[in-house]
Amino acid sequence: MQKTTILEKRKLMVFLAGAILGLGIIFGRLLYIEFVHGEAWQEMAYEQQTRDRLISPNRGSILDRNGEGIALTETVNAVSVIPVQVTDVEATATYLATTLDLDVDWVTAKIQEKVALVRIDTKVDSEIAAQVRAAEIDGVMVDEDIKRIYPYSDMASQVIGFVGSDNQGILGLEAKYDSILEGEQGKILTLTDARGNEVDSEQERIAPVDGGNLVTTLDVVIQQYAEQAIEKAVETKGATRGLIVVMNPQNGEIYAMANYPNFDLNDPFTINDADLAAIWDTFSETEKSDALNSMWRNFAINDTYEPGSTFKIFTSTAGLEEGVITPESIFYCNGYHIVGDRRIKCWRYPLTHGSQTFVEGVQNSCNPVFMEVGERLGAETFLEYMDQFGLLEKTGIDLAGEASSIVHQLENIGPVELATMTFGQSFQITPMQLLAGASAIVNGGYQITPHFAKEVVDVDGNLLETFAYEKGEQIISTETSEQMKVILESVVSEGTGNKAYLAGYRLGGKTATSEKLPRGNGKYIASFMSFAPAEDPEVIALVLIDEPQGVYYGGTVAGPIMQEIMSNILPYIGVEPIYTEAEWEEVSKELAIVPNVVGLTVAEAQKALREVGITSFSVGEGDMVKEQFPPSGEQIHVETQVILYFE
Ligand SMILES: [Zn+2]
Repeated sequence: MQKTTILEKRKLMVFLAGAILGLGIIFGRLLYIEFVHGEAWQEMAYEQQTRDRLISPNRGSILDRNGEGIALTETVNAVSVIPVQVTDVEATATYLATTLDLDVDWVTAKIQEKVALVRIDTKVDSEIAAQVRAAEIDGVMVDEDIKRIYPYSDMASQVIGFVGSDNQGILGLEAKYDSILEGEQGKILTLTDARGNEVDSEQERIAPVDGGNLVTTLDVVIQQYAEQAIEKAVETKGATRGLIVVMNPQNGEIYAMANYPNFDLNDPFTINDADLAAIWDTFSETEKSDALNSMWRNFAINDTYEPGSTFKIFTSTAGLEEGVITPESIFYCNGYHIVGDRRIKCWRYPLTHGSQTFVEGVQNSCNPVFMEVGERLGAETFLEYMDQFGLLEKTGIDLAGEASSIVHQLENIGPVELATMTFGQSFQITPMQLLAGASAIVNGGYQITPHFAKEVVDVDGNLLETFAYEKGEQIISTETSEQMKVILESVVSEGTGNKAYLAGYRLGGKTATSEKLPRGNGKYIASFMSFAPAEDPEVIALVLIDEPQGVYYGGTVAGPIMQEIMSNILPYIGVEPIYTEAEWEEVSKELAIVPNVVGLTVAEAQKALREVGITSFSVGEGDMVKEQFPPSGEQIHVETQVILYFE
């Protein structure tokens, strides 16, 4: 036997010492786990013995400003399986696949998973759930779950948005206010023995916390007026899409935002275009997702465009506020304006507008007038006003995905760029930016933030939270604002906006016909911005028609649509018409007395109204009309629709 050398002894000592130290660490760790983390470890062991059954909270509703439900939560049923309790895999899988309309191989794999509990289907309707429950199959259980429903299906779809399979908001207000709407999940802890069987006596229930109800600024009635008008306009003009936004210019509350085409919120993953639907199965996943994303787009905030002539209201306001013009200033149009070596045409070229006051220039929408105002202002001041009116930054609207405007930097604005900018070309903004800026012009000069959220209430209607949107800075004088309202009213009564003229009401407004880029492709956006009553506006609205076929002028295409929605909205919000004698003579031929339709079915009510030449639309669902607007006995224009309330 070889003698161990001193060196080897030393090595051994070091090893032993190391081993002892190591053991000490492990032992200490055990003590630490037992005494310090003991509770947590026990909890984990407990969890392994239990099956957590989550209880979904009720997702809060989205309501309109009058409490009408736009997005609601309904209780439905979820079918789950406890794999260890399944006695006949094949029979169970076949039964579930057939009853729930699922793939049998998928169900078979699911119920053989080595987990305590597996979810087979959610959002199962009550009748089918009752069948499954009654079948009493070993290991199969039915729990209550919740489902989101949208009673108005496609109304304001791009604004309201929808939820995913886990009830989480993934678009629109559903996404923006998810943290308010979602609530907190509860749990049922069920203790089981080692074989996975429930020990009935050991149940513990942690109640879920329901989400808050979001009260919005939307008005279902105004929204429906807008929806009908934009659908009709897009269809009759053969346009690709259209948009109507209606809001309160005093405080930024949005009453309606209607995009058309829209989509069914109860079925948001089905394409709304028949041509695309026909070849849907040939699409790659990317193509499908692109098509859906484009269907979900909200033209008001997700896309930018060249505003064209509606933008002239900003050039006018800046000119008046800076004192480089007065309403009476004289201008001359010879069909174009020379800028450097360029000859930039008036829309009327080769015709001219000749000599005109500034007010007449706005009524005529004469480009040379605005180019000259721009020259007097200079690029720096001009850009400062765009900034003040919020056209260089996002509006701050409470929806995700707001697009940024595309505007030249000051150093890149030469005389030609400035000239074209004064009449709304060579830069891009969103429709919402235009309307928010226009609001400031007509509300006395105050910046506003367009928004949808008003307050949060609980299930019993108790107020939990109010959203504060204070009036912003005053950016132009009250006097300039007054002057602009008068000028813009004359555009509707005497100028290019006369197609929106509405007897009995004073409307202000401005039309635009924007040529889409690249120029010369014959594609246009026809638009019309209007506010009423002109002296103290309660509503401001924007109508946009993208690529109308045939006649594409803003005044001709969008003017009558504006007239139609204003003729419905103004009586609804309580603005009484005041007719001149001449107006009354015309209007009195087209009036009807509203009959009483309360208590009638929808068919009976429609028939009674049709007899006096009036149409109607419904709010809510039910067997008979509970309330009507306007009330019976009132005299209305035959084009004003009667609203039938069913709840
Ligand atoms: Zn002109």
